[in-house]
Amino acid sequence: MKIAVLVKQVPDTETKIVINANKNGIDESNIKYIVSPYDEYAIEEAIKIGGETTVISMGPDRCIESIRTALAMGIQKAIHIDTQGKSYDSYQTAAALAKVIKDGGFDLVLTGKQGIDYDNGQVTQMAAELSGASQVMVIDKLTINGDKAKVERRIAGGSKEVYESGFPLFLGCEKGLNTPRYASLPGIMKAKSKPIEKKSADELLGGATALVEFTNFELPPERAAGKRIEGEPPQQAAQLVKLLREEAKVI
Ligand SMILES: Cc1cc2nc3c(=O)[nH]c(=O)nc-3n(C[C@H](O)[C@H](O)[C@H](O)COP(=O)(O)OP(=O)(O)OC[C@H]3O[C@@H](n4cnc5c(N)ncnc54)[C@H](O)[C@@H]3O)c2cc1C
Repeated sequence: MKIAVLVKQVPDTETKIVINANKNGIDESNIKYIVSPYDEYAIEEAIKIGGETTVISMGPDRCIESIRTALAMGIQKAIHIDTQGKSYDSYQTAAALAKVIKDGGFDLVLTGKQGIDYDNGQVTQMAAELSGASQVMVIDKLTINGDKAKVERRIAGGSKEVYESGFPLFLGCEKGLNTPRYASLPGIMKAKSKPIEKKSADELLGGATALVEFTNFELPPERAAGKRIEGEPPQQAAQLVKLLREEAKVI
């Protein structure tokens, strides 16, 4: 089976976000980048299934570091879709990925359920549609029987949905699908010299640029400090009701 894993590079969750001078993006100067956490479940699942595995990532040169993380964990091959400093929106990212996936003849495409920077959760679905493939999102169980895949996803109320599908198939991975392994030292060393196939986003997209333009980035308002309610429980309850009614105006 030919498996592709889509990896998005995102700012580390501890990053202190600074808006850039033009207010149309974030200041990337002091950011530590990581593999988007949900993509780690996709990487782990591909390694567990086995077969021929390829990691694909679209972005500037810096995303090679995330590609090497996937290789160090155990993915065999790698493709970097280089954006060469140009901006692309989610639709174009999906279109470029879909082209590479179709040309590569991949049977199964594993992705994260969403990138944790914008929390969009849209590239997988669009890339599946553009590649004429089936897709199931937010899966936490996968079983492959010959030319069929059976997947489960948890839904509200504790129930679960079960799907069966042929290939090609795109799956958005959720926490709980597996336990991503840590890259071993030999794995990290080997990954340093593994070849990474380069493709140009500009060529794949025929020179197109972002359709969606970022016009204004601002940080969320600072959260007001919490209030400490002193006294015995009955007084505290009375005071809490008063604050919820008069200050928070929620009751
Ligand atoms: C420098 C820069 C400039 C940008 N400029 C713009 C802009 O002008 N307009 C705009 O709309 N957006 C812009 N973006 C945002 C960018 O288009 C999206 O972040 C990107 O396309 C991914 O989409 P998403 O966040 O919707 O991913 P999601 O849909 O949340 O991702 C779901 C899954 O799809 C896969 N995936 C997503 N992105 C990639 C990727 N790049 N490579 C491989 N797999 C991936 C991963 O498995 C991920 O878990 C910019 C981003 C960067 C870094």
